[in-house]
Amino acid sequence: MTDHILIRYGELALKKSNRKQFINRINKSIKRALEGYENLEFDPRGLRFYIILNNNPYLDEIIEILKKIPGIYSFSVVSKCNSNIDDIVNLAEKLLREEFKQSMKTIKVDTNRGDKHFPMTSLDITKEVSRQLFRRIEGLKADVHNPELTLHLDVRFEGTFIFTNIIMGMGGMPSGSIGKVMLMVSGGIDSVVAGYLAIKKGMAVEAVHFAAPPYTSDLAIQKVIDLLEKLTPYTEYQSINLHIVPFTEIQTKIYECCREDYGITIMRRMMYRITTKLAEKHKCLAILNGESIGQVASQTLESMATIGEVTSMPVIRPLATFDKSEIIKIATSIDTYDISIRPYEDCCTVFVPKHPQIKPLNTKAFEEENKFEFNELIDKAVNETNTLVIKSSKHLDLFNQNDDIF
Ligand code: ATP
Ligand code: MG
Repeated sequence: MTDHILIRYGELALKKSNRKQFINRINKSIKRALEGYENLEFDPRGLRFYIILNNNPYLDEIIEILKKIPGIYSFSVVSKCNSNIDDIVNLAEKLLREEFKQSMKTIKVDTNRGDKHFPMTSLDITKEVSRQLFRRIEGLKADVHNPELTLHLDVRFEGTFIFTNIIMGMGGMPSGSIGKVMLMVSGGIDSVVAGYLAIKKGMAVEAVHFAAPPYTSDLAIQKVIDLLEKLTPYTEYQSINLHIVPFTEIQTKIYECCREDYGITIMRRMMYRITTKLAEKHKCLAILNGESIGQVASQTLESMATIGEVTSMPVIRPLATFDKSEIIKIATSIDTYDISIRPYEDCCTVFVPKHPQIKPLNTKAFEEENKFEFNELIDKAVNETNTLVIKSSKHLDLFNQNDDIF
């Protein structure tokens, strides 16, 4: 009976010139995400998109998948009948009796007449359908201001679509429509949330993680993999490339050669340099990370300036002004929080100085880091970077066929 899903697009109304391209992209994402489901038909119609269910038994799963597709504003499970009053009333009656099994309640009928040739106005349709429904169904009452249920009638040339629910999608822009960014991902709470927000806003994401074995363990990498896996359903191709950079040698050099209070500043400058190289190599237009102003010593405005000095790429920090509680709320909603709080050692936490500089100077950082040949080490780290393809289906392809990740 609920034989269609009607999908409404999000912010697209604002972007007139790109609208067609964006709609095509969302439609493709929807088809890709639902690839495994048999018997579905897809029917794009301008500003609407219908999925014809053909009795597919996995409606609940399909709804969950649609909630994760950027660019979908909302959707409804709908039933279709011919566009004439008798058929509309019959189907509406059937739906209401199903919906209100126990006792009849208050409703409002809301009509949208897309078919301007239909011989009645939308107000007349509402009145006539309501009149007949109240006559047929005992106990059903009208309440136009605060109804327990709104019966939506969408009267179109190809048929009338009736629905009683509107499910909110995630909004945002279609996956991959805004270009690609390189996400610096740690095993913490913030960076994966930053990744989610970027994907929601239409960015394609690749990820880079710095690992410092043996100071950091494989469990830390597994954590990053598990976190990114949670993001894959939101992406255009249901997968994310993760670049794992061996960072031990650089960290050790910083520890041995540089002023202790500049350790974190220099470490982050090295991360930014390597991320920039990887971003260029993989055609990313910007760096993305989970930095939030004032959270730790390396995230004061002075630190950000001195660290950002080493890259000419734009650095996007979606969480810059967020409170931790706001970040945690999103992490919980995307199901990453419990993974993020698993105990682990990040390369940032292994070599933490007792009193890190909160106002590091660019000149000083430059002087300190030039106490070793960092350019060579950076090139070496980039060359020895391994790439994993993270997919939701839980299987991993190792690009570089090494026995181990390092
Ligand atoms: P998160 O919750 O993401 O770990 P955080 O609050 O722990 O963030 P920091 O550890 O100071 O903050 O790191 C700030 C940002 O730097 C992270 O959000 C992430 O984008 C990046 N970053 C930190 N550690 C790594 C790492 N090992 N590999 C890649 N990026 C990292
Ligand atoms: Mg961290």
